[in-house]
Amino acid sequence: MSTGERVAPPKHYRAAQKKLRRAQRKLSRRQKGSSNRDKARQQLARIHQQVKDKRQDFIHKLTTSLVETYQGICIEDLSLKGMARTKLAKSVLDAGLGEFRRQLEYKAVWNRKHLAVISRWYPSSKLHMACGALNDALTLSGRTWLCSCGETLDRDLNATENIRAEGLRLLEAAGHVDSLNACGVAVRLADVQHATMKQESHAL
Ligand SMILES: [Zn+2]
Repeated sequence: MSTGERVAPPKHYRAAQKKLRRAQRKLSRRQKGSSNRDKARQQLARIHQQVKDKRQDFIHKLTTSLVETYQGICIEDLSLKGMARTKLAKSVLDAGLGEFRRQLEYKAVWNRKHLAVISRWYPSSKLHMACGALNDALTLSGRTWLCSCGETLDRDLNATENIRAEGLRLLEAAGHVDSLNACGVAVRLADVQHATMKQESHAL
């Protein structure tokens, strides 16, 4: 986050993998059509459900606290389908990034807070806003980089600052905020109320 806080998602699926493998082995050893096989299948399903519940619970707590704490939240639109095809796949799915965004979206509406979603093409990691330089050589593994202006940048923190600035720019352009300042934004609620009403009519 642009506050400098880092939230490491618990790796629920990875933590449960041993349990899952054991349950899967048990299932495969049971005779087809037997009641023992049914039991083993239910056990396996229960472990999958537990993983899902834990992940869901973690994401709910996080998104609720974010929406309650901040007037506006800026996030980057990630290509989840694209990332699911890379070696990051398990981590991405385990972190539940898609669910994280879904919850942020509806909770922002319910709580009349602003959510800005930055284009995935915005070079949030590669840009040093202070000098305007773009580091096209930056790879995913580089955690820090030395800008041509001489400053060393933390990849994640630099990205969050860029996402925040771009998000505020988008909100201002859309007329959601009246003015920008260093720590907060003056908020106009008309558009958000409109969105809330639309949401409620869906629920009805
Ligand atoms: Zn620079």
